[in-house]
Amino acid sequence: MTERLDGTVAIVTGASSGIGEATALSLGAAGARVAIAARRRDRLETLADRIGRDQVLVLETDVTDEAQARAMVDQTVATFGRLDTLVNNAGVMLLGPIVGAPVEEWRRMVELNLLGLLYSTHAALPHLLAAAESEPRNVADVVNVSSVAGRIARLNSGVYNATKFGVAAFSESLRQEVTTKHVRVSLIEPGAVATELVTHNRPEVIEQMVANFGPMEMLQSEDIADAVTFTVTRPRRMAVNEVLVRPTEQER
Ligand code: NDP
Repeated sequence: MTERLDGTVAIVTGASSGIGEATALSLGAAGARVAIAARRRDRLETLADRIGRDQVLVLETDVTDEAQARAMVDQTVATFGRLDTLVNNAGVMLLGPIVGAPVEEWRRMVELNLLGLLYSTHAALPHLLAAAESEPRNVADVVNVSSVAGRIARLNSGVYNATKFGVAAFSESLRQEVTTKHVRVSLIEPGAVATELVTHNRPEVIEQMVANFGPMEMLQSEDIADAVTFTVTRPRRMAVNEVLVRPTEQER
C-alpha cells in the first residue's frame, strides 16, 4: 500500500544532479515539502522551479563541513517546522588501483560518502525522532544511498568499497538503535546508473570503466528515485531495510 507524503518534510543531499535530483522530484510529487542540498546553487534553483517553489527550499550546502550539514537541517526545520525524511545521497566514486593512488581522492570519498552522511544524520536524528511521534505519519526515515559496491568489493574500487561498506555497517547499527522508535533506516544499493558520477574520475580510469561495462543498458536516475519513494511511502508497520537494484544486464 503506497501512502502519500503530504504534511511531511524531506531533505535530499546531492540534489543538484543524478539520483538526488530525480529523488527530490519524486518525493515532491508524492506530496512532501523538499529541502534540496548540494554545492551548485544554479542547478538547485532550476530544480526548485520544476518541483514548485511553494514546496521547496534551496540549500547551498557542502555536507563535508559539519557546520554546513547542521545548518542544512536547522534551516529546513526553521522553514518547514519539522523533518520526516533524510535522504543521504551525496557521494563521489573515484576508482583505480590502491598502489600509487592519489591519497587526495581517498580523502574526498571518506569525507563525503562517510563523514558527510554521518554529520547529516547526526543533525537530523532529534527531528526525525520527534516526527516519528507526531502526525501525519508517526514514522520517519533515513535513506542511505549506498551501492552494489557496499556489498561486493572489487578490483580497483577499494576505497569506494570501504566507504560504502561503512555506510552499510553504520546503517544497520543505527537501525537497531532507533527502529522501535519508528525511525526506519534503509539502504539503497544501485548498480550502474547513467549519471555524472563517473565523470569525476581521471581519464584513464574512465576509459577502463567504459571497457569493463561495455555497451550495457544502464539504469536511469528515476529508477532509483522510484526505489527511494517506494521505501518511504510504506505503511508505518513496514520497514524496507535494503534494496539492491542492478541493470538487468549487469552481471556483478
Ligand atoms: P552525481 O555525480 O550525478 O551526483 C552526486 C551529487 O552529490 C551531486 O548532486 C553533487 O552536487 C553532490 N555532492 C558532491 N559533493 C558534495 C558535497 N561536498 N556536499 C553536498 N553535495 C555534494 O552522481 P549519482 O547521482 O550517481 O550519485 C548519487 C549517489 O548514488 C552517490 O552516493 C553514489 O555513490 C551512489 N551510486 C551511484 C551509482 C551510479 O552508477 N551512478 C551506483 C551506485 C551508487 P554538487 O557538485 O552540486 O555539490
